[in-house]
Amino acid sequence: MGIITGRQFLDRICDGRTIYLKGHRLDSPLNSTPLRRVAETIAGLLDMQHDPEHRDVLVRTDPETGESIPATSVIPRSAEDLVARRRAFELWTGKTFGVMGRTPDYMNAFLAALGGCAEAFRDDSDVDFAGNIREYARYVRKNNIITAHCFASLQNNRSHSLAELHSQQQAHAPHAISETKAGLVLRGASTSVTLAPVSDEIVVFSPGRPVTEAEKDFCLAFALPLNTPGLSIVCREPYFGDAPVADHPLAPYDEVDAVVLYDDVLIPWERVFLYRNARISNSYKLEMGFADHIGHQVATRLYAKLNFAVGLANEIAEVLGTAQAPHIQGAIGRLMVYQNTMEAFIRAAEAESAPDKWGVWKPGGNHLWSALCMSQQFYDTVTTTVRDLSASGLINTPAAADFDTPAGGGLQAALGSGTASGDQRSTLFRLAWDFTGHAFAGRSGLYERFFNGDQVRTLARYYAGTDLAPARKAVAEALAAATE
Ligand SMILES: Cc1cc2nc3c(=O)[nH]c(=O)nc-3n(C[C@H](O)[C@H](O)[C@H](O)COP(=O)(O)OP(=O)(O)OC[C@H]3O[C@@H](n4cnc5c(N)ncnc54)[C@H](O)[C@@H]3O)c2cc1C
Repeated sequence: MGIITGRQFLDRICDGRTIYLKGHRLDSPLNSTPLRRVAETIAGLLDMQHDPEHRDVLVRTDPETGESIPATSVIPRSAEDLVARRRAFELWTGKTFGVMGRTPDYMNAFLAALGGCAEAFRDDSDVDFAGNIREYARYVRKNNIITAHCFASLQNNRSHSLAELHSQQQAHAPHAISETKAGLVLRGASTSVTLAPVSDEIVVFSPGRPVTEAEKDFCLAFALPLNTPGLSIVCREPYFGDAPVADHPLAPYDEVDAVVLYDDVLIPWERVFLYRNARISNSYKLEMGFADHIGHQVATRLYAKLNFAVGLANEIAEVLGTAQAPHIQGAIGRLMVYQNTMEAFIRAAEAESAPDKWGVWKPGGNHLWSALCMSQQFYDTVTTTVRDLSASGLINTPAAADFDTPAGGGLQAALGSGTASGDQRSTLFRLAWDFTGHAFAGRSGLYERFFNGDQVRTLARYYAGTDLAPARKAVAEALAAATE
């Protein structure tokens, strides 16, 4: 099939899937304004693949089949492949201002890397898990499949192991309740599944945290179409409802999250990637260079988001006439430093890239892991900076329609200035409110802090996985010099 158009994607997701939104079952995701908007945003990204201006960057030839596939789905085999992939990340993350975490390139990169290291999933069972993964990655890139995912562990009671929860019948993580000739029968739930209502398929790696041998029954990885019988998608309340985009410029980017429930769902064997194997469940992220491949997309997206934040902060300072003040320049300068730091991480990781043992070219040097850890810490400063530059501008924001009322002339006069008309100013500050103060912004801040796990454990994993020999050597030298 090769690359698809936005229209093909929109038609594809109207497939009878079970979606609940605010207590109602939807006939189609396109029947809800917020879901339709974000689906159309993704459709727009897919249409860019056919635009002569972007096609060369977004589309590449599959070396295996000769077909046109998304550039972000290519299994990287050289440093040039990584640079080509990043250029494609830049186009999609730039188009969405970095405010969408889960544009399709995120999972494309994951599945390409997974397909490349499929042999890591081979075990002594009768099922060819390695072959299943390789085939699924091929299917996704060949058909331009859009996937949502869950790699997280269900948040019920963190003080108990999955085995303990299971014995108390409280283990709701996805698990097989029986095996049949056709496949596994699945029960349980996946949470925080961003974009689930408007993706083609869901990819699950559960439980998404290290497990003991006693918990191996919960080690399960699979992929399913989102219209599979027995699967329900229950959406979180969208943040913008039916509000006009003129009043909420970031409304088209609310990538609705969902809880996905499995009620005796059949996973065909060819869609099972890992089953009851604690060793592989604990090691695949390292084997495939998860943080490096995903981090390549994430750092590129953060670069785009910081670029947007710098532009927004600057525009506000220009409109308010504060851009010449040193403390305002300093505040924007700090955001520019974050942006440059992101770029430096990306370039360093590409410069130090190398093939892994599967022959997949991997961004190198732990730089992208550092980028993920650092962004968890500085992100709040980004939004508070834009907020502090804006002050009451963020609330003196009549709706676009208010300017068409008899009060419109008064509003234009009161809110306008030499730098912008009243309605232009209101739209600018509404954009800034969506970015800093709206529920959408709250979710975005939560996302940046948690999408890759919580800060403490993310840093601890970095500590545990890093060679400290050079640091220890420096201290040993200082101690030796002191006692000479
Ligand atoms: C908006 C958003 C969208 C997301 N989208 C996706 C997605 O599409 N797919 C996906 O796979 N993931 C997604 N995630 C990430 C995922 O859902 C989790 O947020 C992430 O893995 C962290 O786990 P958690 O939220 O369950 O937090 P927890 O692990 O429950 O942590 C909560 C708090 O408890 C502490 N804690 C945790 N365990 C213990 C313990 N044993 N003892 C003591 N303290 C503990 C933590 O340090 C933290 O402070 C998303 C997250 C967000 C916020």
